[in-house]
Amino acid sequence: MAVYNFGSINWDHVFTVPHLVRTGETLSSLGYQVFLGGKGANQSVALAKAGADVHHIGALKQSDPALEHLTSLGVCTSGIEQLDIATGQAMIQVMPDGDNAIVLSPGANHRNHLSWLERQLANAESDDWLLLQNETNLIEAAANKGQQHSMKVAFNPAPMDKDKVHRLLSLLDLLIINQIELTDLTGTEDLENALQQLHHQAPSLAILVTLGSRGALYQSTTERVSTQGFRVQAVDTTGAGDTFIGYFIAALDNGLTPSTALSQASAAAAISVTQHGAMDAIPNADEVHYFMD
Ligand code: ADP
Repeated sequence: MAVYNFGSINWDHVFTVPHLVRTGETLSSLGYQVFLGGKGANQSVALAKAGADVHHIGALKQSDPALEHLTSLGVCTSGIEQLDIATGQAMIQVMPDGDNAIVLSPGANHRNHLSWLERQLANAESDDWLLLQNETNLIEAAANKGQQHSMKVAFNPAPMDKDKVHRLLSLLDLLIINQIELTDLTGTEDLENALQQLHHQAPSLAILVTLGSRGALYQSTTERVSTQGFRVQAVDTTGAGDTFIGYFIAALDNGLTPSTALSQASAAAAISVTQHGAMDAIPNADEVHYFMD
């Protein structure tokens, strides 16, 4: 089965700064690096590294080297439209203690065309996955299309937009959400209460909640499984959720049980937090299997 991931692609410009820049101030950075990122691209790379047949759908500037970069990491990029609009860019200030501030220019990520999206999904088969995050335009149209093609539709509502999630719930098979977003969405910090609320609104929806170092929980209409997570020395948790999601969907797509999918995803995400960066820290499947043995 294939996984279609309709998502963002950004260039992340990371400035290491002594403090966050203040009004009117010009601040020299201590360091500067550029990384390919965006939740969509990160999750596609995690899917590819986990061994899934992943088709990224999205948009970027004509001839952007990101296209070749993603291809070299095993992502099928023929569904990425090349536009005469800047690729998404993120300006990230990171302080030595890890706290950060981000300015985002969505660029091409918010200029996807419906006709292009429809063409990319035209060959999707029932039971293929459609994965969505909240960093592109046309999310609701995509979810509708996915449902029309009888695909399994998964949504990771980051960044959170409560109204959009509520509008989408009936179109989704799987909601993948971290605990902060879940609290934001349901207004309660009580996990059971939050799950109950969502179950009430969308009885057939499966929910995967990631709980940081405390692991993750998956609940469907038929089962509930959880993992405690692996104990590791975390140095940078950026992209842990993206790694988790890519590995989890890849495992389900490969016919594995939710319980095995949770273990593999949690191992992959644990490895990723022991290294700096987001996309660069995503391990490949061999590393994950070695870690779990
Ligand atoms: P997000 O990256 O969206 O904030 P989480 O913080 O919930 O998501 O992390 C996603 C997953 O990454 C967790 O479910 C867990 O498996 C793994 N993870 C995150 N932080 C750690 C950590 N400090 N140690 C081990 N695993 C971690």
